[in-house]
Amino acid sequence: MSESTSRLYERFLELLAPGAGPAGPTAGANGREPVRARYGERIDGEGRTHPVVITRDAWILNQIDMALSFDQLLTADDVVVVAAPYELSFVGAGVDRAIEMIGASVISVGTSNTICPMPRLLGLIEEYGATALVCAPSLATELASLAASAERPFDRSSVRSVICVGEACSRKRLDRIGAAWGARACALYGTPSVPTVAVPCAYGALHVCDDRLRASVRDVPDGRTGPEGTGEGGRRPQGAVTRGELLLAPADTTAPGDESRATGELVELGPADGSCACGEKSPVLTPLGRVSGAVSGRSGPVSAVDVERVVFDCADLAPHFACEVRDGGFDVTCAVPDGDAVRDPEAKRSLEKRLRAELDVDVEVRIVAVDDWSTAVS
Ligand SMILES: [Zn+2]
Repeated sequence: MSESTSRLYERFLELLAPGAGPAGPTAGANGREPVRARYGERIDGEGRTHPVVITRDAWILNQIDMALSFDQLLTADDVVVVAAPYELSFVGAGVDRAIEMIGASVISVGTSNTICPMPRLLGLIEEYGATALVCAPSLATELASLAASAERPFDRSSVRSVICVGEACSRKRLDRIGAAWGARACALYGTPSVPTVAVPCAYGALHVCDDRLRASVRDVPDGRTGPEGTGEGGRRPQGAVTRGELLLAPADTTAPGDESRATGELVELGPADGSCACGEKSPVLTPLGRVSGAVSGRSGPVSAVDVERVVFDCADLAPHFACEVRDGGFDVTCAVPDGDAVRDPEAKRSLEKRLRAELDVDVEVRIVAVDDWSTAVS
């Protein structure tokens, strides 16, 4: 951590209420109620919205972990375009503040696509020589594609980091996105209620912020709607990579399971044994999207990220990827830079065959030309 970041870190710690532990105070601790800091919303598997309120202490502690992560990715000289959601979300505001702690400059763009639609965003990158972009992987893909296809080529060579937030994305697709920008791509992971759950190490693996959080998984319930609630039953044994619904509890919780909250998020969770090449002891977490977006396979839930892993392993595809869940399977749309491949039925057939063989679920694949992507998925 740079000296200036260290000072800001200390300043933020001073803002915490006396006696607050790493997970913030519990209700009534130290004779006071936790101070509510921000309101957001989350959307459940049926598309209904639910309020989410984060306490001041939890908000600051989340930002500290995010800033410590950004300190490995950015410097005070960086100019960062943040095209993450601000409306009724903790993401945009949290990312902004964490970047400010590093001392870098922020261009807050958001995701409404009204005041700052994609061509204007690219213009800002060019005009101000932006060096980093924080956004969803799908937006990073569309922006790279738009820049490449513009009549007057945009100069986006200043961008050296693409930091993906908000959508689960496989490592292979992240690498394609990085290649499309000529930049390093990585991801941060949070939920609608906990903005910073896991941060990347030098090897790109997402490590759980275990100074604040204890993560575990449970078997996905039959309904697979992933409601918020107390995690109970079906908890998986520790010691191996396990797949299931992510449960989060404060790190200092001593009673097993009592305070775990189900997140509705499907993940794979590794053991806390330092087996990652970086040597970090905290568990490696692999996001797989919403529980409600998974399909039941014979050996457990299959997610769109599983589909991505296969797709980007075997075909010369652009980083574009769309995956709709339907009854018992997925409808996948991919893109190729070369329009001739669209007319090759064998490319589609061989991809479907491999997906069905590896994932044991029904998958229909559509391959479109990159230039037709927007109309194909709208
Ligand atoms: Zn690691």
